[in-house]
Amino acid sequence: MDRALKTINKETIRAYAKELWSRVPGNILSEDMGIDPRYSGIRMYDAPLVGFGSANDPLFQTYKAPDVIGPWHMSPNEWLPEAQTVISFFFPTSEEIRKSNRQEEQIASTLWAYARIEGQNYILAYTEAMAAWFREWGYEACVPSADPRWQQLTAGKGIEGYSEIQEDSFGSRWSERHAAYVCAMGTFGLSKGFITEKGMAGRFGSVLVSAALEPDPRPFTGIYDNCIHCLACVRRCPAKAIDPIHGKNHMICGAHITASRAVHAPRYGCGLCQTGVPCESQNPIRLKKA
Ligand code: SF4
Ligand code: SF4
Repeated sequence: MDRALKTINKETIRAYAKELWSRVPGNILSEDMGIDPRYSGIRMYDAPLVGFGSANDPLFQTYKAPDVIGPWHMSPNEWLPEAQTVISFFFPTSEEIRKSNRQEEQIASTLWAYARIEGQNYILAYTEAMAAWFREWGYEACVPSADPRWQQLTAGKGIEGYSEIQEDSFGSRWSERHAAYVCAMGTFGLSKGFITEKGMAGRFGSVLVSAALEPDPRPFTGIYDNCIHCLACVRRCPAKAIDPIHGKNHMICGAHITASRAVHAPRYGCGLCQTGVPCESQNPIRLKKA
């Protein structure tokens, strides 16, 4: 009997996700990454939260609207025609790395920059290992952010052929945060970060699979439901990139992140609006209700 017809379900996937987190190399900083040896041994990301969504969720068509992401955003079935399910993974940034960034006021901490670059390498390796596991079970799987078709759009450059692209257009052919919304992982915040049950400080990955799994129910209806509009991120932003009404200006934020290369090259980063704020490591709506 085909192995895929046997015993893969959301619980086995969640259990494997945790096992893989400790098994895939690259989550612990080590000298062979070319880092400052003082930081060797520090773990970048905690075990991931896992969410499931339908590859056919109508929101993926909504995301193609010019005022949402744009027509260049590819739906799950464009990445993988057999896709049935989107699985989103949120890796919360470890306390040690969040604490280091909390203490900064202008430029990201060195540890935060490591988590952005070396940490992203780890998450890519993790999601590719997860996709390989699904293939072993006999399913099709795709990791959009590791796919050669993945392209990033920054300040109007990076994806050609769409009349909607303007100088202030930012995005990519696959948005991890928008996929996370479909997968009931949380909602956006004023700073345009994404607030999960483990807060905003962290990074996402996702895998599209041909296995049909029940989507997680979304307990919210608005795209900002988890944001308490406390404006702490507005005050934390050294570039004044976050407007209390309209949220983050990508051009101003992008310029500040680029400027951080002067300190962190070849790395970069910021994330000051994700640390030292009520939504750093928890869902602030729960605090408010408590
Ligand atoms: S710091 Fe406050 S206003 Fe900003 S995203 Fe978090 S909860 Fe929303
Ligand atoms: S909005 Fe951009 S520049 Fe401002 S704190 Fe957040 S990441 Fe940094």
